[in-house]
Amino acid sequence: MIFCPLGETETISASCHFLSVRGTGILLDAGIDPEAEGTAALPDLDIIHNRHDWYADSLLVTHAHHDHIGALPSILQHFPHLKVHMTHATRDLADHVLPASARLQRRRMREGTATSPPLFSEEEVNVYSYLYLAHKLNESFDVTGLRGETPIRATFYNAGHILGSAGSLLTYADEAGTTRRIFYTSDTNLRAQGIIPGGDYPKEKVDVLILESTLGADPDAELTTRRREIERFGRRLKMIIERGGSALVPVFAMGRAQETLAIIHKLKEKGVIPSDIPVYSAGGLRAVSDIYDKTRFTTPRIDESFQMYGIEQRRVPKSTAALMNALESPGIFVVSSGMMFERTLSNRLAQLMVEDEKNGILLVGFAREDSPADRLQRSFALGQGSPVILDDDLGPQPLNAFVERFRMSSHSHRRDLIQLVEKLKPEHVILVHGDAPARTWLADNLRFFYPELNVHVPKKGEEIEI
Ligand SMILES: [Zn+2]
Ligand SMILES: [Zn+2]
Repeated sequence: MIFCPLGETETISASCHFLSVRGTGILLDAGIDPEAEGTAALPDLDIIHNRHDWYADSLLVTHAHHDHIGALPSILQHFPHLKVHMTHATRDLADHVLPASARLQRRRMREGTATSPPLFSEEEVNVYSYLYLAHKLNESFDVTGLRGETPIRATFYNAGHILGSAGSLLTYADEAGTTRRIFYTSDTNLRAQGIIPGGDYPKEKVDVLILESTLGADPDAELTTRRREIERFGRRLKMIIERGGSALVPVFAMGRAQETLAIIHKLKEKGVIPSDIPVYSAGGLRAVSDIYDKTRFTTPRIDESFQMYGIEQRRVPKSTAALMNALESPGIFVVSSGMMFERTLSNRLAQLMVEDEKNGILLVGFAREDSPADRLQRSFALGQGSPVILDDDLGPQPLNAFVERFRMSSHSHRRDLIQLVEKLKPEHVILVHGDAPARTWLADNLRFFYPELNVHVPKKGEEIEI
């Protein structure tokens, strides 16, 4: 088999990998780089075009985060014959995120803030939706290509990451007739979160493991437990509410938002925070919550009786005056974007909140260096009243509010990833989805613990032949 990443591998950007297995070409994921725009955000599909012996037959989409699905319409423009496979829940989420992405690109174009034309239109993605083949977890399906020399079967396993997320197992016979197994973890979490249970993995050993590395350089992640983090989160919320302030919890609209709302709901049930404290949420986040509810009997759940709909939420008011009014009394705002990018609701709210020492900003997700969420943490560390720039147009504001970060990742920490290698006993591990320090730490440790193991750390466009 040949493996080749088509997206940047030095950062977590467009996850999209090409796999050639005995004449069959399979794309693993269709991610877009969330930091880039236009064609620069896409995986490099010319890598396949330029090779006359490479041919893409099918595409496995592992989950509906942008860095795994955002380029799907563009990939279909290049390879209209592709068979696109995903879980049912991922298809439901795709029908929400891809049209939303098309609308956002069009809006940016209209407002003059886009640097390149939209990659696809809403009408187009609505048509593509009919092409997606949805599968149940743990049921194999055929992905043999037009020029395939042997049948290849694929099976999705619950990845424990977000709703619908799936690891993918590929099974085929090699030239000698021996059964070979390739497993792609995608973004994975071995442990249960609040709504989604921990991941499932093949029972038998695999030959090649394509492993995510997100938290490979994060030593703190393995030292904290989810329970302790939730307790600390509860204590902070209680403190903010008791002094009459409001809490802002910036979240990614898909996955983290729903898990965070479920945590707040539990804290209310346990009496850690008053049950009548209003919780505000908005727009896309609520649409995703509806899909979580709709699929609760058909996807892995910790408690299928739990519904997002059962959590009382108010809509975040639209006008600044109404927002200011809502901030007069304690409340919890669960809004996107998670990194608090300019012109998003979490950034706008933070601008109204940071100068008041009663308020708190509780960060529950990853914050890229120099994102507004990261700048808030840095300013807070410098002491009360330190300046923070949330939006360049606005300039610095004094940061008097409280800022704290909590670890509630939907990714496995690095010791768990090593455990997974132990369990699946591969001969080859290919490290993806992690920045250079993360992949280096994992590579070094895997080589140390398993000297026989072949560890690969491929760059974009690099072919690995196994
Ligand atoms: Zn993800
Ligand atoms: Zn990802």
